[in-house]
Amino acid sequence: MNVSALARQLKVTVSELLEKLPELGFDVGARAIKIDDKLVPKIIEAWRRADRKESFKKELSQIEERGREKNDEKTVVEKQISVGETIVVKDMAELMKLPVARLMGELMKNGIMVSLNEKVDFDTATIIAEDLGFKVVKTDHEALEEISKKARLAELLTERTATITKPPVVVVMGHVDHGKTKLLDAIRSTNVVDQEAGGITQHIGAYQVETKGKLITFLDTPGHEAFKAMRSRGGQIADIAILVVAADDGLQPQTLESISVIQKESLSFIVAINKIDKEGADPDRIKQQLTELNLTPEDWGGKTVTCLISAKQKQGISELLDLVLLIADMENLRADTEGSAIGTIIESHIDKSAGPVTTVLVQAGTLRVGDMFIVGEVPGKIKTLQNWMAKDVAAATPGMPVKILGLKLSPAVGEILQVISDKKQFKDKLKNLSHRGHTSNNNVKQSEDEDRADVTVLNLIIKSDVLGSAEAIEEALSKIKVSDTKVKVIKKGLGQITDADILQAEATGAMVIGFHIKENKSLISLIDQKGVIVLYFDIIYKLLEHIEETLQNIRGKKTIHKFIGRMEVLAIFKTTKKGMIVGGKVIEGKITKNAKIKVLKSGEVETIGQLINLQAGKENVSEVISGTQAGIEYHGDPIIAVGDTLEFFEEIYE
Ligand code: GDP
Repeated sequence: MNVSALARQLKVTVSELLEKLPELGFDVGARAIKIDDKLVPKIIEAWRRADRKESFKKELSQIEERGREKNDEKTVVEKQISVGETIVVKDMAELMKLPVARLMGELMKNGIMVSLNEKVDFDTATIIAEDLGFKVVKTDHEALEEISKKARLAELLTERTATITKPPVVVVMGHVDHGKTKLLDAIRSTNVVDQEAGGITQHIGAYQVETKGKLITFLDTPGHEAFKAMRSRGGQIADIAILVVAADDGLQPQTLESISVIQKESLSFIVAINKIDKEGADPDRIKQQLTELNLTPEDWGGKTVTCLISAKQKQGISELLDLVLLIADMENLRADTEGSAIGTIIESHIDKSAGPVTTVLVQAGTLRVGDMFIVGEVPGKIKTLQNWMAKDVAAATPGMPVKILGLKLSPAVGEILQVISDKKQFKDKLKNLSHRGHTSNNNVKQSEDEDRADVTVLNLIIKSDVLGSAEAIEEALSKIKVSDTKVKVIKKGLGQITDADILQAEATGAMVIGFHIKENKSLISLIDQKGVIVLYFDIIYKLLEHIEETLQNIRGKKTIHKFIGRMEVLAIFKTTKKGMIVGGKVIEGKITKNAKIKVLKSGEVETIGQLINLQAGKENVSEVISGTQAGIEYHGDPIIAVGDTLEFFEEIYE
């Protein structure tokens, strides 16, 4: 057969055919014209086979490519879940779009026995999710809390019937150095509400001015550091935002960030184009930049309200305030003054001499001296109210910021304050809070088993850097179970341990715990004199260990460690903050469920942990004997290494 005829049949050129034939194993010569007829069917068959292989390869790589693309997409949009400090197993499965059973199976494989309604911590969730091909990002806890507070506030406020027009609450936002502070100062100095009080202003996070016989409340977030706080303060309680943009600098990153907060919160806003007195000020450039962001100024045919000002020279301030009033009118901002007060904490800190200083912005009802309230989960009673001019006032109406004096604790900024005028309701609310283990107030009724005569109670006073830590400690303490004993937190608070704490500890026989705070050296002689135990900790489990030990001691009984078995560590499977999953061989005795574990390095006990789960092969078992291998889940200091010895023991009390 002619080479050209065969080439035609195979739909290739002669040279392509001659080039390929040697690759297929047919050596006919590079210049052949004819091919042996007997070879022709074999060549055709080999050609087709090669063709099929080629196209199969192509298809395969296309499939792989498509898969890769899909995977990439998934990594971006789907294969990522957000987890907070903890997540309920069921919720996690839902986020991952996996059957709960599958997730529980995966957890079990890793030695974590939890039910679908139980929580796993962030680290565990990360390990498991990553095994299943998911990326885990930590949820912005503060943001979540903010959202839930906002929802709660909205719910409380919708129940109210608005009767009066309330002063608009204004927040000033913008890029650093664009003149926010200067503007707030300029407004304050020119339009103070109560001229006769003259000058004695105090910083309480907000102030009020009067213009054209109407009040406006300004949230006075100091400095530049406060952008984040402003999100919770401003977004939650402000009605109107003033976005300050320096005319000589233009829109900057924090300007854009502010715009996105304003839009997210659907706040009405005015752009105050500031520093127009400065050389190089170019208000039109700002208007151009706003237009590019679809925020075309009104005088350019758009809807964005703008105002030219110089905070330094106090120019344009009254026009700006007029615009605020105009917007407030259009928004028809109303509230009631009749009902019991609801407000939001806008400032909260510990003052060295005055103790907790808390400012609340009233949002509904009237807050009065004598009112009983709950803020967050802490109860209190209003003893003194002061306005921002440091004047005592008997009551505060919606839109008014007031300082509350004499609180025992400093609530978090953004918390909601709710007055509860009905005594029974107040008591019920307190009871609910105490059942949830969140309140340590002295008024809270003791739980029943505390009243049992045979229970020894360890009284504690806890002082910490932030209230959250004290609460976390209290919750963790409630989980320590040493029979016939009980921990009772009689007081918890923020800041340094004080002489009052020592005196109270002496009177109540309490132990004083400082967490994440510096030692107050000036108390050493008082502590000595009163014989009070004061301990400082920076690590929560060390604190818990110590308290557990103390409880064992006050129980007046001796603890004996009964040896059960010993294991040599051969492999480390997982390490988390909480503990580890390790494998090893039992070299002496046996291992039983619920045992405690001493971690020995070179014969020295380094730490003590707890056996959480025991596996032989892939089965959960209750006992593993000497000579066999086992996997254990251990909770404690995650310091176990291959080659360490684990000693298992039971605690027996005599
Ligand atoms: P913030 O970071 O936005 O609070 O900005 P500040 O209010 O601290 O102002 C930053 C700097 O700009 C300060 O030195 C102010 O004196 C100055 N400044 C603020 N407003 C004006 C203004 O209208 N004109 C001029 N020339 N300087 C201003």
